[in-house]
Amino acid sequence: MIKDSIIKTVGKLPGKTVAIFAGTHGNEKVGIFALEKLEKDLIVKKGTVYLVYANPPAIEANKRFITKNLNRLFSRHEKGDTYEDIRAHELMGILDQCDALLDIHSYNSPSGDQFSFCEPNGYDILKLMDFPIIVSRLDPDPTMYSTTTMGYMNKKGGIGFCIECGTSNRENDFLELAVKSSYQFLQYFGNIDMVIPNDNIKQQVIKNERMYYKKNLEFKFVKDFKDFEVLPAGKPFAFDGEESLIAGENECIIFPRPNVPAGGEVCLIGSFIK
Ligand SMILES: [Zn+2]
Repeated sequence: MIKDSIIKTVGKLPGKTVAIFAGTHGNEKVGIFALEKLEKDLIVKKGTVYLVYANPPAIEANKRFITKNLNRLFSRHEKGDTYEDIRAHELMGILDQCDALLDIHSYNSPSGDQFSFCEPNGYDILKLMDFPIIVSRLDPDPTMYSTTTMGYMNKKGGIGFCIECGTSNRENDFLELAVKSSYQFLQYFGNIDMVIPNDNIKQQVIKNERMYYKKNLEFKFVKDFKDFEVLPAGKPFAFDGEESLIAGENECIIFPRPNVPAGGEVCLIGSFIK
């Protein structure tokens, strides 16, 4: 049971205001466990830190969401009346006070590496962290940012990013990474008085090219793809009813989800940036 879903801690000295979200998708437990640790241990020296359990009913039900994907509702133009719509407006009120947001997620694929989503304004922060892959829209037009938590943050001129701490069914393997990354984020913004070492790993940037939505129930990938698997250029990688989905040169797949309902997000396509 989550007693307090928005925990605000203010340091003695002035500084940046930042937020760490977990449970934006309620079944992604690694962030929730990381936040529980931070709630116990974190000492804020400067500025203000919000720790936010983003979707408490979904966290308690261990579901991605109750009615709507919370991570697509971060826009002041959204006017729905479900719990998630109302919660998104409440959380936008928190983000409006913040300079930066770290949103902790995990993914459904049964295996794979940790990775992160951010725009170029977040690269310097990610350099402090241990994510071998950075997925970025690299889009110069901020009005086109998405209605995700990080999209909202970037659109209003802050720095928003999302870390994907491994696969959802192995949360204990990635808990240390989620906690360490949270401290590295707070270190960058000067909220804490600690230096958290990183592994200085090589980071590959992948441009987020496009999203595919499932049109037909008979949608089929030509094989079981893993995240970031390179797609055969010019050949179909999936069939959506009569339509073949074709990849270009140097493209890879992200979040293949063949079992989403029709209309759902069935995969993202990225391209490797040298
Ligand atoms: Zn998620």
